[in-house]
Amino acid sequence: MPDYETLEHDVLVIGAGGAGLRAAIEASAAGVRVSLVCKSLLGKAHTVMAEGGIAAALANVDERDNWKVHFADTMRGGQYVNQWRMAELHAKEAPDRVRELEAWGAVFDRTKDGRILQRHFGGHKYPRLAHVGDRTG
Ligand SMILES: Cc1cc2nc3c(=O)[nH]c(=O)nc-3n(C[C@H](O)[C@H](O)[C@H](O)COP(=O)(O)OP(=O)(O)OC[C@H]3O[C@@H](n4cnc5c(N)ncnc54)[C@H](O)[C@@H]3O)c2cc1C
Repeated sequence: MPDYETLEHDVLVIGAGGAGLRAAIEASAAGVRVSLVCKSLLGKAHTVMAEGGIAAALANVDERDNWKVHFADTMRGGQYVNQWRMAELHAKEAPDRVRELEAWGAVFDRTKDGRILQRHFGGHKYPRLAHVGDRTG
Protein backbone atom coordinates (compact mmCIF):
# COMPACT_ATOMS: atom_id res chain seq x y z
CA MET A 1 0.00 0.00 0.00
CA PRO A 2 1.69 3.29 -1.06
CA ASP A 3 1.93 6.09 1.50
CA TYR A 4 0.59 8.60 -1.00
CA GLU A 5 -2.73 9.22 -2.65
CA THR A 6 -3.27 9.79 -6.37
CA LEU A 7 -5.83 12.46 -7.27
CA GLU A 8 -7.05 13.07 -10.78
CA HIS A 9 -8.16 16.45 -12.08
CA ASP A 10 -8.59 18.13 -15.44
CA VAL A 11 -6.81 21.32 -14.40
CA LEU A 12 -4.10 21.76 -11.80
CA VAL A 13 -3.48 25.36 -10.74
CA ILE A 14 -0.13 26.03 -9.05
CA GLY A 15 -0.36 28.98 -6.68
CA ALA A 16 -3.24 30.38 -4.68
CA GLY A 17 -2.75 34.13 -4.91
CA GLY A 18 -5.15 36.32 -6.85
CA ALA A 19 -4.00 34.90 -10.20
CA GLY A 20 -4.29 31.27 -9.15
CA LEU A 21 -7.63 31.70 -7.40
CA ARG A 22 -9.13 33.55 -10.36
CA ALA A 23 -7.81 30.90 -12.77
CA ALA A 24 -9.35 28.17 -10.61
CA ILE A 25 -12.71 29.96 -10.56
CA GLU A 26 -12.65 30.34 -14.35
CA ALA A 27 -11.69 26.72 -14.95
CA SER A 28 -14.30 25.50 -12.50
CA ALA A 29 -16.96 27.63 -14.19
CA ALA A 30 -16.09 25.83 -17.43
CA GLY A 31 -17.21 22.61 -15.77
CA VAL A 32 -13.88 20.84 -15.37
CA ARG A 33 -12.41 19.30 -12.22
CA VAL A 34 -9.92 21.71 -10.70
CA SER A 35 -7.35 21.44 -7.96
CA LEU A 36 -5.24 24.17 -6.48
CA VAL A 37 -1.78 23.74 -4.95
CA CYS A 38 0.21 26.31 -3.00
CA LYS A 39 3.34 26.11 -0.92
CA SER A 40 2.26 28.65 1.69
CA LEU A 41 -0.82 28.81 3.91
CA LEU A 42 -3.94 29.25 1.82
CA GLY A 43 -4.74 32.96 1.96
CA LYS A 44 -1.16 34.02 2.76
CA ALA A 45 -0.02 34.83 -0.78
CA HIS A 46 1.48 38.20 -1.70
CA THR A 47 -1.97 39.15 -2.95
CA VAL A 48 -3.23 39.74 0.59
CA MET A 49 -0.32 42.14 1.18
CA ALA A 50 -1.38 44.43 -1.66
CA GLU A 51 -2.61 47.09 0.69
CA GLY A 52 -2.71 49.97 -1.77
CA GLY A 53 -5.52 48.75 -3.98
CA ILE A 54 -6.48 47.68 -7.48
CA ALA A 55 -5.86 49.87 -10.53
CA ALA A 56 -8.92 49.93 -12.79
CA ALA A 57 -10.11 52.76 -15.05
CA LEU A 58 -13.63 52.87 -13.65
CA ALA A 59 -13.62 56.69 -13.95
CA ASN A 60 -15.66 56.98 -10.75
CA VAL A 61 -13.67 59.94 -9.42
CA ASP A 62 -12.32 61.51 -12.62
CA GLU A 63 -14.32 60.90 -15.77
CA ARG A 64 -11.28 61.59 -17.99
CA ASP A 65 -9.89 58.20 -17.06
CA ASN A 66 -10.31 55.26 -19.45
CA TRP A 67 -8.48 52.08 -20.44
CA LYS A 68 -6.29 53.89 -22.96
CA VAL A 69 -4.90 56.25 -20.31
CA HIS A 70 -4.38 53.28 -17.98
CA PHE A 71 -2.60 51.43 -20.79
CA ALA A 72 -0.35 54.43 -21.51
CA ASP A 73 0.47 54.83 -17.80
CA THR A 74 1.31 51.13 -17.57
CA MET A 75 3.60 51.19 -20.60
CA ARG A 76 5.34 54.34 -19.38
CA GLY A 77 5.72 52.85 -15.88
CA GLY A 78 7.36 49.80 -17.45
CA GLN A 79 9.77 51.93 -19.47
CA TYR A 80 8.09 50.42 -22.58
CA VAL A 81 9.72 47.04 -22.09
CA ASN A 82 6.49 45.49 -20.72
CA GLN A 83 4.48 43.10 -22.86
CA TRP A 84 2.07 45.54 -24.51
CA ARG A 85 -0.67 43.01 -25.20
CA MET A 86 -0.80 41.95 -21.53
CA ALA A 87 -0.86 45.61 -20.49
CA GLU A 88 -3.70 46.25 -22.96
CA LEU A 89 -5.75 43.31 -21.68
CA HIS A 90 -5.12 44.38 -18.10
CA ALA A 91 -6.22 47.96 -18.76
CA LYS A 92 -9.31 46.87 -20.68
CA GLU A 93 -10.48 44.15 -18.30
CA ALA A 94 -9.61 45.59 -14.89
CA PRO A 95 -12.92 47.50 -14.46
CA ASP A 96 -14.96 44.34 -15.07
CA ARG A 97 -12.76 42.35 -12.70
CA VAL A 98 -13.25 44.94 -9.94
CA ARG A 99 -17.03 44.96 -10.49
CA GLU A 100 -16.90 41.17 -10.36
CA LEU A 101 -15.12 41.25 -7.01
CA GLU A 102 -17.72 43.73 -5.79
CA ALA A 103 -20.53 41.39 -6.92
CA TRP A 104 -18.82 38.53 -5.09
CA GLY A 105 -18.91 40.55 -1.87
CA ALA A 106 -15.54 42.33 -1.71
CA VAL A 107 -15.72 45.51 0.34
CA PHE A 108 -14.56 48.84 -1.13
CA ASP A 109 -14.51 52.40 0.16
CA ARG A 110 -17.26 54.49 -1.45
CA THR A 111 -17.80 57.87 -3.03
CA LYS A 112 -20.56 60.03 -1.52
CA ASP A 113 -22.95 58.74 -4.17
CA GLY A 114 -22.11 55.10 -3.42
CA ARG A 115 -19.70 54.17 -6.19
CA ILE A 116 -16.32 52.51 -5.60
CA LEU A 117 -13.91 55.20 -4.39
CA GLN A 118 -10.65 55.64 -6.30
CA ARG A 119 -7.45 57.38 -5.25
CA HIS A 120 -4.15 58.39 -6.73
CA PHE A 121 -1.28 55.91 -6.80
CA GLY A 122 2.19 55.87 -8.31
CA GLY A 123 2.25 56.37 -12.06
CA HIS A 124 -1.49 56.96 -12.43
CA LYS A 125 -2.54 60.08 -14.32
CA TYR A 126 -5.96 60.10 -12.63
CA PRO A 127 -7.26 58.61 -9.35
CA ARG A 128 -7.63 54.99 -10.35
CA LEU A 129 -7.02 52.81 -7.32
CA ALA A 130 -10.08 50.93 -6.04
CA HIS A 131 -9.35 50.23 -2.39
CA VAL A 132 -10.60 49.65 1.10
CA GLY A 133 -8.55 51.82 3.44
CA ASP A 134 -5.01 50.41 3.52
CA ARG A 135 -6.07 46.77 3.72
CA THR A 136 -7.35 46.04 0.20
CA GLY A 137 -5.48 42.76 -0.30
C1 LIG B 1 3.80 44.32 0.41
C2 LIG B 1 3.20 44.30 -0.98
C3 LIG B 1 2.33 45.31 -1.35
C4 LIG B 1 1.75 45.30 -2.61
N1 LIG B 1 0.83 46.28 -2.95
C5 LIG B 1 0.18 46.22 -4.13
C6 LIG B 1 -0.87 47.12 -4.43
O1 LIG B 1 -1.24 47.98 -3.64
N2 LIG B 1 -1.51 47.00 -5.63
C7 LIG B 1 -1.12 46.04 -6.55
O2 LIG B 1 -1.74 45.97 -7.63
N3 LIG B 1 -0.12 45.17 -6.28
C8 LIG B 1 0.52 45.23 -5.10
N4 LIG B 1 1.50 44.33 -4.82
C9 LIG B 1 1.84 43.34 -5.84
C10 LIG B 1 0.78 42.25 -5.86
O3 LIG B 1 0.51 41.81 -4.54
C11 LIG B 1 1.27 41.06 -6.70
O4 LIG B 1 1.68 41.50 -7.97
C12 LIG B 1 0.14 40.04 -6.87
O5 LIG B 1 -0.46 39.76 -5.63
C13 LIG B 1 0.67 38.79 -7.51
O6 LIG B 1 -0.38 37.84 -7.50
P1 LIG B 1 -0.10 36.38 -7.90
O7 LIG B 1 -1.39 35.60 -7.69
O8 LIG B 1 0.54 36.34 -9.23
O9 LIG B 1 1.04 35.88 -6.87
P2 LIG B 1 1.01 35.68 -5.28
O10 LIG B 1 -0.10 36.40 -4.61
O11 LIG B 1 2.43 35.93 -4.86
O12 LIG B 1 0.71 34.13 -5.15
C14 LIG B 1 1.68 33.17 -5.51
C15 LIG B 1 1.15 31.82 -5.03
O13 LIG B 1 2.01 30.79 -5.55
C16 LIG B 1 2.36 29.90 -4.52
N5 LIG B 1 3.62 29.28 -4.92
C17 LIG B 1 4.80 29.90 -5.21
N6 LIG B 1 5.72 28.96 -5.56
C18 LIG B 1 5.09 27.76 -5.50
C19 LIG B 1 5.52 26.43 -5.74
N7 LIG B 1 6.77 26.15 -6.14
N8 LIG B 1 4.62 25.44 -5.55
C20 LIG B 1 3.34 25.71 -5.17
N9 LIG B 1 2.90 26.95 -4.93
C21 LIG B 1 3.77 27.97 -5.09
C22 LIG B 1 2.39 30.76 -3.28
O14 LIG B 1 2.28 29.96 -2.12
C23 LIG B 1 1.15 31.63 -3.51
O15 LIG B 1 -0.02 30.95 -3.12
C24 LIG B 1 2.09 44.29 -3.55
C25 LIG B 1 2.98 43.28 -3.16
C26 LIG B 1 3.52 43.27 -1.90
C27 LIG B 1 4.45 42.13 -1.51
